[in-house]
Formats: sequence, C-alpha cells, structure tokens
Amino acid sequence: NTAAGATRPWTEHYPPGISWDVPIDTTPVHETILATCARTPDADALDFLGKKTRFGELARLINAFAGALQSELGVKKGTRVALLLPNTPFYVIAYYAVLRIGGIVVNCNPLYTVKELSHIVGNSGAELMVTLDLKLLFDKAEELVDAGHVKKLIVCHFPDALPGLKKLLYSLAKAKDMSKPDKSRIAAKVVHFDKLIDRKLSPTPVAVDAAKDVAVQQYTGGTTGLPKGAMLSHANIAANLSQIDHWALGLFRAPSRTVAVLPFFHIFSMTACLNTPLAAGGQVVMLPRFELKAFLDLMSRTGANILVAVPTLVQALSKAGDKAKPHLVSVEVTVSGGAPLSDEVRHNWSKVSNALLAEGYGLTEASPVVCCAALRVPSKPLSIGQPLPGTDIRFVNIDTGETVPLGERGELQVKGPQVMLGYYNNPEASKDAFMDGWLRTGDVGYVDSDGYVFLVDRIKDLIICSGFNVYPRTIEEAMLHHPAVDEVNVIGVPDEYRGEAPVAFVKLKRDQQVSEAELKKFLAETLNKIEMPKEIIFKEQLPKTLIGKLSKKELREEYAQRKNKH
Ligand code: AMP
Repeated sequence: NTAAGATRPWTEHYPPGISWDVPIDTTPVHETILATCARTPDADALDFLGKKTRFGELARLINAFAGALQSELGVKKGTRVALLLPNTPFYVIAYYAVLRIGGIVVNCNPLYTVKELSHIVGNSGAELMVTLDLKLLFDKAEELVDAGHVKKLIVCHFPDALPGLKKLLYSLAKAKDMSKPDKSRIAAKVVHFDKLIDRKLSPTPVAVDAAKDVAVQQYTGGTTGLPKGAMLSHANIAANLSQIDHWALGLFRAPSRTVAVLPFFHIFSMTACLNTPLAAGGQVVMLPRFELKAFLDLMSRTGANILVAVPTLVQALSKAGDKAKPHLVSVEVTVSGGAPLSDEVRHNWSKVSNALLAEGYGLTEASPVVCCAALRVPSKPLSIGQPLPGTDIRFVNIDTGETVPLGERGELQVKGPQVMLGYYNNPEASKDAFMDGWLRTGDVGYVDSDGYVFLVDRIKDLIICSGFNVYPRTIEEAMLHHPAVDEVNVIGVPDEYRGEAPVAFVKLKRDQQVSEAELKKFLAETLNKIEMPKEIIFKEQLPKTLIGKLSKKELREEYAQRKNKH
C-alpha cells in the first residue's frame, strides 16, 4: 500500500551503497551514546565556544546527574523533566541523564512567554525543570514554580559553562544572583546543578522498553489548536538517528564536526545536531545563538564539516557573500530542513560554498526526518529527496481519502519506525493524526517518475480562491525571483468575491526599491490571474519562529487587525 502498490519506486534512485531494508537500530539513544563514550573516552564530544568536553567526561557528568536526579529528586521511570535551556553542555548532560533513568524529556523553547510555557509544562505533567541562572530564563521558571506548574527547579550556573564569555552572548540577560534570592518560598524549591553533580552518585539501572516507553514528549503546533505533546518512544528517536546514519554513509562518524546552532529543543536539531553525531563519535560544535561574526569565527576555529541549517540560516550566510566565503571552506555538507529551500537560496549558497546543499524534510511527529536528498552525491534540485530507509510514504486525495496514482498531488502520509506513538493525553488528536495507520503530515506533495519527492505546500496554508487551489509557495517562489525581493510570505485572506485570496508580505533587500504595481507586472509573467496577490504589503522584517521558519500565524493576525481598523 505504498505510492505505487507494493513497490517503492524511490529506492531505484537511492544513492549508491544504500538499501531500503537495512537493519534499523532501536537501542535507546542514551545507551548508544554511553557506549560511544566508553569506546572513545579521550575524543572531544562537545565544543562550547572553545571549551571542550571529552566523551569520557561527558559520560561521567551524565551518570552523576542521573544518579542525583534519582536519589535526591526522586525521578523515576516516566517522570517528566522539562528543559528550559539554550544550546550549552548543560542541555546535553540533562537530556541524556533524564533518558538514562527512564525519565521523559519535555523540551521548552526559552523564548516562549510564560503563558505559552504554562500550557506546555502544565499539560506535560512535568515535575522538575532544568534551567540557567540567567534572568531571561530564571524569571520565567520562577513564575512557573509560583503558579504550581513545576515543583522544583534545577538551576545551572551559566558562567560555569564558559567563564568570561557570558556577556558576549547574553548581553541582555544578566545572571541571577542566586545567593540572595528575593523570594525564600521559591528559593526552597531551587536545587543547584553543580551541587547535584558534586554528589557523584551512580544511577541505578532502569529497564526501558524501547518500543513502548516515551523518551521525549515534544510539543508542536500540529495543524490546529494549542501545542500538543508528541510522544516519541526511545525506539522512534533511535530509529531516526540510525536511518540518518545509514543515509549519510558515515558522514557523521568521527572525526566529523557538526555545527549545532539550531536549538536542541527543536526536534530537528535534537536528532541531527546532537543524537546523530554523538552516537557516531563525532564532535558537536555548539553556538547558543546565531550571530554572524560569532558564527564565522567558530567555523574558522573549528573547521566544522557538517552544517545543519534552516533556509533562513543558509540565506543569511549566503548574503554575507565574500565575508563568509573564507570561513565556510571546511563545510562538506549542508543539510537544510524545516521549511522549503527556494531556488534563489540554493543559487546564492553556491556562490559562497562548494559544499553539497541537501534538503531534508520532516516533522515533529516523525522524530523528525522522513525524506532527505542524498548527502554524498548531488540530488535533484528542488526535491526533498527520497524517504529514508525503512520509511514508507503515500499520497492521498484529501477529499476522497484515496491513494492517488504515482505523480499526482496528495497529502503526504508516512509509515516508519520513527513515527510517534500519539499525542499525550489527547486521544482525539491522536486519532486524527493517523489514517489507516499512516501518519498524516498535513503537507501536500508528489513523487516524480524517478522516485524523487517534491512538496507543494501545507494543506492548512492552501488558499481556495474562486474554487481553485492556490499554493502560497508557488507565489513565494515566483516573487523571490525578483532581484529586489529578499523574503516573502504569502497568506490567504477572506475575500468577498472569491472566498479567499492571496496577500503577500514582502521584505525588500537593503537599498532596493520596487512598487506594488511593478512587482505585479513582474509576477504576471509567471503567475496566473487567480494566483496574483490581491495586495502586496512591504515590511522591514517578516516574523519568524525561533528556529528561523517564516511564520504565517502573526501575519494572519496582523492582517485581520488591519482590516478591523479600516
Ligand atoms: P515541525 O514539526 O515544527 O518540525 O514542522 C514540520 C513542518 O515543517 C512540516 O509538516 C512541513 O510543513 C514543514 N517542513 C519541514 N521541512 C520542510 C521542507 N524541506 N520543505 C517544506 N516544508 C518543510
């Protein structure tokens, strides 16, 4: 019951050396990482702005923290522990320690508001939260404790991670003076990370059923409503890293260096920047926040060869042009995922780097990678490549629920060992997420006759204009070809005559000018009348999510507000 009956057409064009039915390792990821630590204790595992942690030391820290979580804080199998941490060694230690003792990691985005965090942490049932003593984070964590969402905070002293450099990266965020807590009630609920580590306790082994036990409860917007907690089992997470490792043909193996600038709390980075390289004995080079100069310095200093990115990061580096070029020479492969990679961005990248640029596709519910372009040989441009080994896909007509013939557009649905167990405490959403056992992605795509997968757009972003399907992505791609356009995001808005109509939000390149009429004239060469935006709104900045995806949500709200005012 695949895209073309029982066959898997995409495997015919698999890169040499890869087969679909390779054995997929579902050993819990912390066991794999600890085995790597034991095998290569003297190799560098982490580089945090020059401060290195070797695999042997990493294992010691993971075990000490796991032991303390168990004996001092009562973490048992199934206890949920929220991590409110940027990319630092603390994140890595806490993540594997929680998994090591059967706990469940609940990742939190440090830039979320207290309201958003309250929903996630409250819904997840997390009892503990690990954070930093930076005002930016600690104040939020304190409010969560105050509101009864978490019982205890474990606070890491940020300067310990990197003495002296705190200011450089977090100029806005002062370290909290924990010696004089202003609220003694809160202070009683705070435990210091370093004190826990100093106890040097050993964890008692906990039996984990990889297929059934949840390792990470990962919150995602899904297609509707409030964020839901996707329950990813140990096997789901392990499978995805094993699939990527096969796909990458050893690319991540030592002595590789992977840049981790995307935040670990996002599933893409958790799998591609953390689990996959560390399991393979490679080094993870961390940067807690993207800033061009710091990033370029880091590239020159470390000679990192794998860059895991989102399109906006690829774009930012490409735009830096000759300034960036000499710093990027060590990059062998850039993997871009999370959002569509436009033709324009691909083209610009080739001007600053010879590295192969491979597009990947995934979603939280699939731990996350589903498809990826080949990582060792060039692939078909604009395609998201092929489904990873062990992964089946099909395309379904959303109106009839029938699988469409090869080549036709439909909702991309997925089956594979990386697909989640369901959403936490939400049977209805869990049921809706699947159709006959296939995960519904909410993305529309097709597979071409060579077995390469192409994405068209998201179902929920589809604009139904005078009864025709208009895909915002088609309009965005067309607009990006205009030399003055830097970024564009298209949404559907209510329209009196046509039901819905597209509106484009555009950010122009610096020192460039173009009028709405000129842009429309340019678009008329490629778009049909129905696809033509009814309005083009110029903006200095376009809203983005923390991982760097252009976000339509804020634009929809902004547009509705504009109309209300008029
Ligand atoms: P998240 O669960 O937050 O990672 O978001 C997953 C969604 O991101 C997918 O359902 C897609 O809509 C989108 N996405 C991920 N990768 C790509 C890609 N390469 N091209 C287009 N959309 C993508």
